[in-house]
Amino acid sequence: MVKTTNILSIPVAQVTRAEILQTITQHLKTSDEQLFIVTANPEIIMLTKEQAAYKNAVLQADFVLPDGIGVIVGAKMLNEPLPEKIPGYELVHDLLALSSKEGFSVFFYGAKEGIAEQAARNAQELYNGLQIAGVMDGYQFQGEDAAKRIEETNPHIIFVAMGAPRQEQWIATYKERFPNAVLIGVGGSFDVLSGTVKRAPKFWTNNNLEWLYRLLTQPTRAKRMLKIPKFLVAVLKERMVGRK
Ligand code: UDP
Repeated sequence: MVKTTNILSIPVAQVTRAEILQTITQHLKTSDEQLFIVTANPEIIMLTKEQAAYKNAVLQADFVLPDGIGVIVGAKMLNEPLPEKIPGYELVHDLLALSSKEGFSVFFYGAKEGIAEQAARNAQELYNGLQIAGVMDGYQFQGEDAAKRIEETNPHIIFVAMGAPRQEQWIATYKERFPNAVLIGVGGSFDVLSGTVKRAPKFWTNNNLEWLYRLLTQPTRAKRMLKIPKFLVAVLKERMVGRK
């Protein structure tokens, strides 16, 4: 069992990016059990506080990973540091590289019409021989209909890119249908992989400023990003209560 840091009642795994990749590889090669992974940012953790059903979905995950600096800072404030941030988008690339090397098939589910297709095409150009089990947008296909279509292709890895809370709720509801697969919510990753949205350049990510880059380039997200300071305040409160 991997150690976790409880942040606002969500157990975040104390693993490195290399360790989780190793675990997933091992799992796909030797186990016939499924794996549900959540890449949690402050927004996701705050949403679990607001929506009990969503919290219930996230708590079903086998691993909740720290997607971004906010969660790392939160863990540090609680004196239970996490080894490193594991950005969901980078994990997607790790899993694509792994799949092309090991012959695992991947399903791209989510984003607007045409985006998953383009993301899958780009992935195949980047990763030689990558097996795409299928692609499907996240608007026309939802719920049971989506599960049925994915089930027919029997993929090793299912990327669900519908943002929170949709993606984790969909996974929690339908995961039993994919008893051997790795299911992971990857937010806006297809938008980036398809070239529709630009990810922050290295300077910004290296200096933990990806949030600022996003705020400047996608100002419509400003309201959503207010969740980050709110999250840090909530963690601070949790720390004070814990010390009493
Ligand atoms: N999305 C979807 N179906 C929906 C609503 C959203 O497939 O019903 C997609 C949307 O097109 C986008 C992704 O979900 O590609 C969520 O992106 P966002 O930037 O909100 O995700 P984040 O990375 O911030 O969690």
